[in-house]
Amino acid sequence: MDLSFSDEEERFRAEARAWLEANVPAEPLPSGDTAEGFALHQRWERKLFDARWAVVSWPEAYGGRDASLWEWLIFEEEYYRAGAPQRVTQNGIFLLAPTLFELGTREQQDRILPAMASGEETWCQGWSEPDAGSDLAAIRSRAVRDEKAGGWRLTGQKTWTTRGAFCDRMFGLFRTDLDAERHRGLTYLLVDLHAEGVTVRGFGRLDGDEGFADVFLDDVFVPERDVLGEVDQGWSVAMATTGSERGLTLRSPGRFSATAGRLLDLCHQQPRADVDLRDAVVQGWMDAEAYRLQTLWTVTRFVDGERTGPESSLTKLFWSELDVRLHETALAMEDPELESEWTKGYQFALAGPIYAGTNEIQRNVVAERVLGLPRK
Ligand SMILES: Cc1cc2nc3c(=O)[nH]c(=O)nc-3n(C[C@H](O)[C@H](O)[C@H](O)COP(=O)(O)OP(=O)(O)OC[C@H]3O[C@@H](n4cnc5c(N)ncnc54)[C@H](O)[C@@H]3O)c2cc1C
Repeated sequence: MDLSFSDEEERFRAEARAWLEANVPAEPLPSGDTAEGFALHQRWERKLFDARWAVVSWPEAYGGRDASLWEWLIFEEEYYRAGAPQRVTQNGIFLLAPTLFELGTREQQDRILPAMASGEETWCQGWSEPDAGSDLAAIRSRAVRDEKAGGWRLTGQKTWTTRGAFCDRMFGLFRTDLDAERHRGLTYLLVDLHAEGVTVRGFGRLDGDEGFADVFLDDVFVPERDVLGEVDQGWSVAMATTGSERGLTLRSPGRFSATAGRLLDLCHQQPRADVDLRDAVVQGWMDAEAYRLQTLWTVTRFVDGERTGPESSLTKLFWSELDVRLHETALAMEDPELESEWTKGYQFALAGPIYAGTNEIQRNVVAERVLGLPRK
């Protein structure tokens, strides 16, 4: 197996590194989970887009570079290495877009992808409801066909909608057939959050940022052209999005390699680091490297035309637990009185085992669908 990159790929890395070094803001931006920070992040994303770094693996016609998945991985490594701002466009670019490329119509792709790539139109994910989290098929928000107007009327409530208070559009699952079995009769719809009948109420997370929102829908009209995939087949469309969320795109290895690198730097500066802590640092670094190598394997399978299935749950378990361990090790080395970037990172890392499907659910998926164990 050849794990090295080609000369062309190394040139791509050098170009990305040079641009990022020259352009990443010297001071970190305020959190993108606040109104002020979100606007500044959008401005940064526009700059990325103008230099064609926002969506490197997309076709040039949508603002990309037609880069390979390998080059995308390289770009991600460089992005995190440079300490560049979090991507407030991530739910659009990393979750919805792969599904649009796979299952959207050409008209949808042409209409939606360019504005998503430039950050002009931002997207959030409208799946969870007050009584439907792990049990996503329990959702009750409804979409009723409006023949005359040529579309659907939506009623219900979505919750835990990340950055919902600042986004323009939401992709979500809605019940379109009340008589069908729970996983059938759902449709994947693209909703304009500025439409009549939408009320969005932001609320704070554990760290105080207004990162969440409740989205209330009262007879909201969605035109037919904003159905993604087939009517009543929303579950399988959602599973395609889930594969991206748990598998490849949402949490690329560059994120954890960069954190492990910062942890190593911290260890070198810290007199408090005893042997156990130093062992934990080395273990964290090796785990980040293992995740990077595992991702290279996944990308090889993608390039060979395979798709990720339930094994993306293993990936999600690994990166979410690794992130917690890396931050715990850092906090154990720091002065406990100190509020640092590790403190904030730790608070967010704690959410990793919950979002994108809780880790208990991922373990169920691995047991039943990867290992083939009986349900009971
Ligand atoms: C930071 C963050 C961002 C999020 N962003 C979004 C977003 O943008 N859009 C969105 O739609 N949602 C979002 N969510 C919501 C997230 O998807 C849900 O929190 C998650 O699916 C769990 O659902 P729940 O909170 O209702 O918990 P529940 O489903 O009520 O689960 C409670 C506990 O019971 C356990 N449990 C439940 N069922 C089982 C079972 N069958 N077997 C074993 N254990 C079980 C769970 O693992 C969990 O520990 C976000 C959550 C977080 C933390």
